[in-house]
Amino acid sequence: MNILLAASEVVPFAKTGGLADVVGALPVELARLGHAPIVFMPAYRRALASGLPIERTPVRFHVPIGTKEVEGGLLRSAFPGTAVPVYLVEQSDYFDREGLYGEGGRDYIDNCERFVFFCRAVMEAIRLLDLRVDVLHAHDWQTGLLPAYLHIEYRGVPGYERIASLFTIHNLAFQGQFWHWDMLLTGLDWKYFNWHQMEFFGKLNLMKTGLVFADAINTVSPRYAEEIQAAPLGSGLEGVLLQRRDVLSGILNGVDYGTWNPATDPHLPVKYELSNVVEGKAACKAAVQAELGLVQAPNMPLVGMTGRLTDQKGVDLVAGVLQEWAQTADVQWAILGTGDPKYEQQLSTLAGRHPQKVAVKLDFSEAVAHRIEAGADVFLMPSQFEPCGLSQLYSLKYGTVPVVRATGGLADTITDATPEAIAAGAANGFSFREYSTLALAEALRRAIAMYRQPEVWSRLVAAGMQQDWSWKRSAEQYVNLYRRLSARLPQTTCA
Ligand code: ADP
Repeated sequence: MNILLAASEVVPFAKTGGLADVVGALPVELARLGHAPIVFMPAYRRALASGLPIERTPVRFHVPIGTKEVEGGLLRSAFPGTAVPVYLVEQSDYFDREGLYGEGGRDYIDNCERFVFFCRAVMEAIRLLDLRVDVLHAHDWQTGLLPAYLHIEYRGVPGYERIASLFTIHNLAFQGQFWHWDMLLTGLDWKYFNWHQMEFFGKLNLMKTGLVFADAINTVSPRYAEEIQAAPLGSGLEGVLLQRRDVLSGILNGVDYGTWNPATDPHLPVKYELSNVVEGKAACKAAVQAELGLVQAPNMPLVGMTGRLTDQKGVDLVAGVLQEWAQTADVQWAILGTGDPKYEQQLSTLAGRHPQKVAVKLDFSEAVAHRIEAGADVFLMPSQFEPCGLSQLYSLKYGTVPVVRATGGLADTITDATPEAIAAGAANGFSFREYSTLALAEALRRAIAMYRQPEVWSRLVAAGMQQDWSWKRSAEQYVNLYRRLSARLPQTTCA
């Protein structure tokens, strides 16, 4: 099948989070399964500076943005080592900037205009490149206008008649809300600015737009697909999602084991697999302790965490436990992330007070993220909500036991180490339900107690390392969905 995927970030060209990992991996797997994916993203400065081979195409176009016509062009690249094309939409006023969505903690004020342009460019590119497309697969609010343009403006247009649209929610907490006058930028009639379609409490909402106009919707885990049909995780859109539940499903993300595999990971000082996991992890632990300035303590459990330091990720719980434990418990912490200045400061202060036990690196570093995955004994994800979560899946592969809150994709992928689950060989981590410091501390205590029993611990490690969370299974589920959509068959819905 011919699948056009459009997203605002794509690995290895530009990334701020899991969305980029997904849109970087799914198309490659689709191609492996014999399909013909093609990817569109904005030509950010960061993408152009990535060192990847990107060539100019002769394609130039003009699209309407409000009352003006804006010119853009198309650049072309491919995923490394593949022939899967990646088109980068070029418009230097919009995309030749330092950040993807903002700078210095502030969103760019013209984000609506930038992504209206991107969506219009993608719609035009189908015609300009004479693409045959079966499914237009849009991701998150930045591409929420694509299903709307397809439905409203392009439905009867030759070359577009057969295209079905799929909209994937990666995180409902980011909805792309703008003041109502930005409706003018979209070029769509004001009649669509109503509470059933594009309007949300007086504002233009591009996530809602995607949800309303897409032929089908999915999100990145079955559990999250259920959770968002009610408050609070529906983030105000639970009504729309309930209404569309017959076309809403959940497909777990996969892992790109080409990038995340301790046996081949170029970022690690020592590579390892299940057969030499104990020695391999010991060496990686010593190295990461040294790198982060922690005291070299081979037998002290090292708790790792990488991610955005925001409310979503449960950083307040982590800070709460750290506050109590840093002085008393024999546990080390390695935390990598950037985000809310309040959390950055709180964690740095703790690290400053307890430099031998607590390392906090306020940075975005792919290499350090890999080394923490390998060197840590336990990986922490106490999220308030988690659409899928990727880091817990990386942890499993690296023999690092996840401690997670049972929500969204974390609930779908981590089986708590109860005695029964351990006996059945199903346990691969620890999970807790209540969102509280106490519950997190209790789960961590259980994990550390088990860490002290190497025989049981090694079973947990082995169970995780042997699991297969590769993209193949997820991509097959997407293909199924694409086929049903393209044939206009009813979708399999979530429970
Ligand atoms: P989300 O998309 O909500 O941020 P995910 O767990 O789905 O969370 O994906 C996060 C991705 O971003 C992972 O690949 C993780 O390793 C990476 N990441 C997050 N913060 C950092 C950081 N500070 N340095 C390096 N990688 C990071």
